Amino acid sequence: MSASSACFKPPCCPNPDCPFHCCTEGWRFKRIGFFARLAAPHRIQRYQCRHCRRSFSTQTFSTSYWLRRPELLQPLFFRLLACSGFRQIAREFAVSPTTILGQSARLGRHCLLYQHRHRPRAAPAEPLVLDGFESFEFSQYHPCHFHVVVGQESHFFYCFTDSELRRKGRMTAHQRDRRRWLEQHFGRPDPRSIELEVAQALQLVVPPGSLTELHSDDHPAYPRALNGLAEHRFRHRVTPGSAPRTAANALFPVNLLDLLIRHGSANHKRETIAFSKRRQSAIERLTVLQVWRNFIKPFSERRRNSLTPAERLGLCKWRLRVAEVLKERLLPSQVRLPERLERYYRREVPTRRIPHGARHRLRYAD
Ligand SMILES: [Zn+2]
Repeated sequence: MSASSACFKPPCCPNPDCPFHCCTEGWRFKRIGFFARLAAPHRIQRYQCRHCRRSFSTQTFSTSYWLRRPELLQPLFFRLLACSGFRQIAREFAVSPTTILGQSARLGRHCLLYQHRHRPRAAPAEPLVLDGFESFEFSQYHPCHFHVVVGQESHFFYCFTDSELRRKGRMTAHQRDRRRWLEQHFGRPDPRSIELEVAQALQLVVPPGSLTELHSDDHPAYPRALNGLAEHRFRHRVTPGSAPRTAANALFPVNLLDLLIRHGSANHKRETIAFSKRRQSAIERLTVLQVWRNFIKPFSERRRNSLTPAERLGLCKWRLRVAEVLKERLLPSQVRLPERLERYYRREVPTRRIPHGARHRLRYAD
């Protein structure tokens, strides 16, 4: 993950305001010695841009930039997919849970950029399948949906957005009183959230003007979401949620993804104490699963020559390893996320019960 300085060539000037940040033709930099650090490798080469004089190092371009325990990043990637809670992981690595939280958010941000950089650019050449994955944040009084969009043939996990929902379903008299009290103090989620966020998810995947076949269940908000997208054309096919969830079901790709999310993510298990305290954190964990699902996990783990969804779409020529995904740090100033996803990057998804949750400040192009 950390670049060895002997054969390392800085890919660009890391200063987003420098003209050599995006175009490196004619760029000149010089070596300005080393600095020592506790983690291996202990000697880090430093450089300086000859144009803007910004200094940087081999670490500036590493995903483990500024981490005290850089060696944890890769094993943590696997643990986040292996149904461990943050505190369980912290115990195993003998670090504080805060270290795991910080590195997990770092992995989430990296995967958000990675997914966006390597996504298909053209309109999907296959039908899409849409579904709402149910979970909750902070407590069961705050349910949420992740609206996932999956390729029907490739199983590529194109995109997701999130909605906070009002608690519904069967409740005792005490639970109803509690919900009323919470809504008076913390407000109520937008009742149109599903409609708006589903529209956002589809806009992130489908360019305007193209005709796309879309499969979903019979959720009443979906037709309203599609009607709101005037520049898009969808051929909407509805499969009732009550239909058997077999491989023959048109929604099979999304049902399978739901199972994988539930199977690998401790925060989405039923009756768990590892649920996400903040939706933002669940989003970061889901982006790690998204990159793993698309670029690393073969469709069948039993068959050796099985392809990943990204290979099926021709986005990659081989199945990636975690080390390859984490090889190079991606800079948000170069990947340029759409505004909706930039909110995820900056940790701007609010949790009503935690009004001052930590956000991500951009420091030195991070
Ligand atoms: Zn520069």
